[in-house]
Amino acid sequence: MDDSKGLALAFEEAKISYDEGGVPIGAALIAADGKVLGRGRNMRVQSSNPILHGETSCLQNAGRLPSSAYKGSTMYTTLSPCDMCTGACILYGIARVVIGENKTFLGGEAYLRQRGVEVVVLDSAECRGLMERFIAEKPEVWNEDIGVEERVYSREGVEAPSV
Ligand SMILES: [Zn+2]
Repeated sequence: MDDSKGLALAFEEAKISYDEGGVPIGAALIAADGKVLGRGRNMRVQSSNPILHGETSCLQNAGRLPSSAYKGSTMYTTLSPCDMCTGACILYGIARVVIGENKTFLGGEAYLRQRGVEVVVLDSAECRGLMERFIAEKPEVWNEDIGVEERVYSREGVEAPSV
C-alpha cells in the first residue's frame, strides 16, 4: 500500500477520536500484501482506558493473529509512537512504522531503528495541525496520555525542534 494511503486511514481514525472528545491519534496496521489488518484510535478518554493508544487500539482491533501475519507489516500512526506503542510494535515484529509527524511529540523512533524496524516520517501538516489544536485545547489530557504533568517534547531528553 502507498504510504500516504495508509496514513490517510490512520488520520481518519484520529479525526473520529477528536470528534468524540478524545486524543486525536489514529493508527492502521497493513499486512505485507496490502490487506488492512486493523484500525484504531486513542480511546483513553472515550473508554477511560490508559492503555488504548492509537497503535495499541489498532492491535486490539486486529485481534489475535499468528506471528506470521505481522511479518512485513506496516503500522501507520499519526504521531511518533510513545514507549508503550513502540514496545508493542517491537513485540509483534512489525517491520515498518510510518509516522504522520514527530514535531509535537517524539517517541521511541531511535529504539525502533535500533531494533531493526524501518521508520518513515511523512511530516504531515494535517496530522500536526490536529495535534497542535488538541494540545492547545486540552493540554492536561495530552500530558496525562504520555504520563507527564507538564508538557515535554520527548521523554528521551531530546530538545524540541525550532519551527
Ligand atoms: Zn502510545
